[in-house]
Amino acid sequence: MVNSRIERQEVRRDNVRSHTPMRCPICGGELSNVHIRELGGLTADIMWLLHAGECREHGWFQAEFSADPPREIFPVKKPFGTARRVVVVGREYFEFPTAWGRAQLDQRHLQVTDPLDPRMWETDLAN
Ligand SMILES: [Zn+2]
Repeated sequence: MVNSRIERQEVRRDNVRSHTPMRCPICGGELSNVHIRELGGLTADIMWLLHAGECREHGWFQAEFSADPPREIFPVKKPFGTARRVVVVGREYFEFPTAWGRAQLDQRHLQVTDPLDPRMWETDLAN
């Protein structure tokens, strides 16, 4: 049996309607229904975060990151759900590398990066 009171508490914990620099990797559009979840970390001082959001046209996407921006954005079936395959102009994708993911290793070390810098979240297809 579904208890609506419990459901509402879970939603609040996930910070629904938070802001994310993530945009739809296919059309570049702003994502709605943004969910943010703290995943904790392997070590106490590193917090992993998961951002999920929905493009009305292209569905749900999410990305995981910690002190650095995410390296890729994944298409998913629902927030925090399993990955799905998307086909764009006849080509299939299971992930979309971000500008951060495409940057060379030495570039990453040279710059101090804000993990929420929108430029580092940009993907190839949408820009
Ligand atoms: Zn889209």
